Amino acid sequence: MGLKQNSTSEPFTKAVNHLQPEGAYQTLVAARRLEQMGRSIIHLEIGEPDFPTPTPISEAGIRAISEGRTRYTSASGLDELKKLIAQQTSSRTGKHISEDQVVIGPGAKPFLFMTSLAIVRPGDEVIYPSPGFPTYEAMIRAAGGTPVPAGIDTSNHFALTSDRIRRRLTPRTRMIILNSPSNPTGAVISGAELQAIASLAVKNDLWVLSDEIYRELTYTDREYDSILSCDGMEERTIVVDGFSKSYAMTGWRLGYGIMPQPLADKVTLLLVHSVGCTAEFTQLAGITALEAGNQECKTMRDTYRQRRDLVVDRLNQMEGIRCQSPDGAFYVFPNIQGLNRSSQTVADELLNEAGVAVLPGTAFGKDGEGYIRLCFANSKENLELALDRIENWVKQLS
Ligand code: PLP
Repeated sequence: MGLKQNSTSEPFTKAVNHLQPEGAYQTLVAARRLEQMGRSIIHLEIGEPDFPTPTPISEAGIRAISEGRTRYTSASGLDELKKLIAQQTSSRTGKHISEDQVVIGPGAKPFLFMTSLAIVRPGDEVIYPSPGFPTYEAMIRAAGGTPVPAGIDTSNHFALTSDRIRRRLTPRTRMIILNSPSNPTGAVISGAELQAIASLAVKNDLWVLSDEIYRELTYTDREYDSILSCDGMEERTIVVDGFSKSYAMTGWRLGYGIMPQPLADKVTLLLVHSVGCTAEFTQLAGITALEAGNQECKTMRDTYRQRRDLVVDRLNQMEGIRCQSPDGAFYVFPNIQGLNRSSQTVADELLNEAGVAVLPGTAFGKDGEGYIRLCFANSKENLELALDRIENWVKQLS
């Protein structure tokens, strides 16, 4: 069906005109098409745990459904879950977080969008990680803001620094987005850098949106640092977190935001008028994850660490590929400039010729040129097979 004709030449709003599909889903569709034609493809494109949701968590969800916990709940989430998140965050950060500062939603993504809608005004600039999760740029633009990419810094294991942020500050800067550990690079921002970024935010009266969805997945000995722990940050920080990655719950759709209460109230209103509320049985499964999921979380993390070492080691033995070892998340972001092809061409050829689905670095913004992203949340057997295929493909190039 054609579009309704009206007097304006632009059929849609500015808020949606700029939206692009997420690279991971596009590659997944192309990979599935090849599989339907009988090709064997190893999927290293989608960023999701290969583990099933731990049994105690799934059982809590199933039990909740059998008990009829299948109705509307309050828009901001179950009190019990909000209290638990507030308590755990308070003890982790040393700040007093009340349950009124916690809002539950269907995944972490809604909090990227809704907090931006509540804070970013037309013309405001937002400094965001680039290469970075594509939703950041999408949400800044949808809110009418101007995205200011922070750019890539290989000298610092890709981690965003206060210096980079300082150089991009203008009187119009409204917010800084952090994502540590990072998708797609796995970089973790050090405690000292977080302190320096916090000082900039306080001095310039800025908001900081800290996407901590990979918080549980770090491979260093250091305790995880959140910018929320830094002085003066309670009143200007939005922590975005969730259960998708740490507890292998991507399809349950459960996430949360922690923010100053007046903002939490506005975000709750946005939830009321968009999704209504989050499924109650999903939230009850989330309570079990937080109360009893620690051991499962640690077991998954230890396994990811072994897989990371395997992948980094093998990639570094290949001619034309250089791969840093990420401190967190479950991605490697190797430099492929030595293959003398664009990121997109390498990703296309790996899929079509070698049967390995990966993402071009440019799926995370133009600063990702020269890189590809591989997700190592996959079995050791699949990873070894994928690496054999990549190695053979690289060999036949020379
Ligand atoms: N933030 C980052 C950096 C991510 O990589 C993802 C998912 O890939 C999300 C947020 C979204 O998480 P959720 O599935 O809980 O909405």
